Amino acid sequence: MDLSLSDGTTIPQLGLGVFRMSDEQVETAVAAAAQAGYRMVDTAQGYDNEAAVGRALARLDAPMYVTTKLRNDFQGYDSALREFDASMARLGVDVLDLFLIHWPMPARDLYVETWKAFVRLQAEGRVRSIGVSNFQPEHLRRLVDETGVAPVVNQVELHPYFQQVEVRAADAALGVVTEAWGPLGQAKTGLLSDEVVVRIAQAHEATPAQVVLAWHLAIGNVAIPKSVTPTRIVENFGAVRLSLTAADLADLTALDTGSRISASPYDVND
Ligand code: NAD
Repeated sequence: MDLSLSDGTTIPQLGLGVFRMSDEQVETAVAAAAQAGYRMVDTAQGYDNEAAVGRALARLDAPMYVTTKLRNDFQGYDSALREFDASMARLGVDVLDLFLIHWPMPARDLYVETWKAFVRLQAEGRVRSIGVSNFQPEHLRRLVDETGVAPVVNQVELHPYFQQVEVRAADAALGVVTEAWGPLGQAKTGLLSDEVVVRIAQAHEATPAQVVLAWHLAIGNVAIPKSVTPTRIVENFGAVRLSLTAADLADLTALDTGSRISASPYDVND
């Protein structure tokens, strides 16, 4: 259940997201996730919990794949380099697995300069893989046109109610793996009680969250569901053992409403 990335590395297809977790919750959740079989954790400078992730990682027997993201305020060549070092100190890892630009912030127009710093960090061997988050196809294409280096991953809001058909196609055309944030629709969209999801779950003696996550895995997404509850952390990892039928996948794919939870990436500029 690892996917190959265009830079020759691999990424686990299912990981734990730690957005809006307190330090204490991070430490409990990462330990529970490791126990359940997870090998990846997704944090960000903006979540203010990298140090807690670092403490949790230090207590594990096996290493985890670690992703963090540059805070929007820190875009720009010099500040990206400086703040990467700060993240590394907080996380306590020697080499980071994946560093992402958190949002393109098109009105600020700093993402190309920021990307050049990311390319340098990778060339120096300080980070294995570099990618982006919330990038629209035109932002991706501009990075490639101006630097010749494509991100390996584009992490975007993606769930059966918001399937990002155009972004996924643009990612695929550039060899970029699509990573789904909010993979469960943040459990506030009604997705987990949708009658189609519930019916498929009952047919497989699985849970709605497992069905949604199995859909992500089947269509080739990386997914990083968040939970602070150990039983749900275990439940969510169970998706790797759930095989959906072609009819199930078609029914889930028919659920797209085109409405996102978050702001459009064009409107996030600070
Ligand atoms: P999510 O879709 O993972 O939903 C999380 C919520 O779902 C939890 O708070 C919990 O209430 C509920 N839940 C979890 N497991 C469940 C289960 N088995 N049954 C029922 N309910 C369950 O949403 P998210 O946290 O926004 O996204 C996941 C991760 O993506 C984040 O933690 C973060 O790491 C990342 N993220 C990235 C960005 C970005 O801009 N790049 C934005 C938001 C989130």
